[in-house]
Amino acid sequence: MGTRLSGRRIGLFGGTFDPPHNAHLALARLALAELALDELRWIPAGQPYQKARAITPAAQREAMVREAIAGEPRFVLERCELERSGPSYTIDTVRELQAREPGARWFLLIGQDQYAGLPSWRDWRELLARVSLAVAQRPGAAAPADAELRAVPVAALALPPMEVSATVIRARAAAGAPITDLVPPGVASYIDRHHLYRPG
Ligand code: ATP
Repeated sequence: MGTRLSGRRIGLFGGTFDPPHNAHLALARLALAELALDELRWIPAGQPYQKARAITPAAQREAMVREAIAGEPRFVLERCELERSGPSYTIDTVRELQAREPGARWFLLIGQDQYAGLPSWRDWRELLARVSLAVAQRPGAAAPADAELRAVPVAALALPPMEVSATVIRARAAAGAPITDLVPPGVASYIDRHHLYRPG
């Protein structure tokens, strides 16, 4: 592992990560194993154009991702969307990374909810021509309605159904309820130290 200069298998895992949680980690670990990845890049969105609510500042989401990925050398933080101005489109990220690292094999990891909505992503057909898609099931998420998308082969990641979402975690933290069973310990203590998601 790690000595191949070309043909490296690189996973891309984008998200708002507000905050990163145990389902993200479970999905990422499963992808390392099932897709035999050399590396998995966690890509916090700079300005997630499909999220309507106020987002935690990028520097704090980045810090939480660093906490979440600590201890697994194949997990890498990719900052390109944080550095780009304007909305974060996955296609821009993929074009940029592939231009930088020709010869690698690219896998895009997404949950079922994102998969169903993929035809709303900018240049999604080009995106699917550039990466292999790996999809993890997510409770309550529908199959894609788009026939063209359904015809594209995807790797199914056998993630056991996990109800956790960042939305639930923010709501629990806001209500003063414990979140230590839903996020990695480093993330829980970061949220606590920085008083994230508390009202006022
Ligand atoms: P929010 O609740 O704020 O919308 P989220 O929990 O969906 O956030 P994101 O950072 O938006 O987290 O998700 C990043 C990626 O992880 C997406 O592809 C999403 O589908 C996937 N994902 C998040 N939670 C789960 C889960 N419980 N099961 C499967 N996939 C998940």
